[in-house]
Amino acid sequence: MPALNSYYLVKGGEWPEAIEAAFGDRMTVGAINVAPDSPEEARVIALCETADILGAVTKVEYLYSTGDELQDDLWYYLQTEPVREIPDPLTSFFDMTTACGGADRFRCNVGAQQIGTFAFSQPEPYDIEHIHAFGELFFVSDRCKRLIEAAGFTGCRFLSPGENSVRADSHNLVQMIIDTEVSSLPEVGEVRITRRCPKCATVYQFVPDIRSGSSPYFKAGDLATSDFQIYRAVRSSNEGDLSLAFQVPLVSGRVLKHLLGSGISGLSTYSDEPLIPFRTVPVR
Ligand SMILES: [Zn+2]
Repeated sequence: MPALNSYYLVKGGEWPEAIEAAFGDRMTVGAINVAPDSPEEARVIALCETADILGAVTKVEYLYSTGDELQDDLWYYLQTEPVREIPDPLTSFFDMTTACGGADRFRCNVGAQQIGTFAFSQPEPYDIEHIHAFGELFFVSDRCKRLIEAAGFTGCRFLSPGENSVRADSHNLVQMIIDTEVSSLPEVGEVRITRRCPKCATVYQFVPDIRSGSSPYFKAGDLATSDFQIYRAVRSSNEGDLSLAFQVPLVSGRVLKHLLGSGISGLSTYSDEPLIPFRTVPVR
């Protein structure tokens, strides 16, 4: 069964200095990562009491897997190693005329259209990798592609380097396009938007509101049935539906198990501190 972990948020996002000093090495974007019912959690609570901010603090719990006990019927966040060596993706592979130019010195680029197949300037070290340009773009080795196709996994298709390739030195990487979206948007409760494009209002970063303290979760039936799926927006209770500047890829437990068991390299851990190999997509 997946294990439970948790993190703490504070209203406004700024922790008092004493807590920052004590738990700075466990913080990710203002969230303090501590295991439930651990001595560290007791220490967080004690320091919050001392600073008289306990009423402004929220705990968020989530499930994760070590990878040894992945469940076929659960979905996980897909985390992969980043691609390192590619020619400039902005000018080489995208038409920027359809992209949002942003405003107030905020560079946005949402809406850029991919016009060419990717090429890489260095041999890839992994079987599955991604770049962050305009959402998550995924690349897999021929071997990984064959494994996915032979197993009949659904929700993705592949784009081979071909006649419109910008560079001729493409090797055996193919682009994996996850073309299935979730059936219904995940809920996030109340949120505080911390970064959004001033021109097109696309959301670049948000944090759960202190009162609801929820990471995105689905209700039964909101996930699609395919093995790969993505979401590009979330449903908040105070700001409505929020269009995101990135897509969030999800993968079924049976895919993860199959790829890990086949020795596919490039699947990375969800987080290093604390060590969370695979985070479960919450369904309530
Ligand atoms: Zn924009």
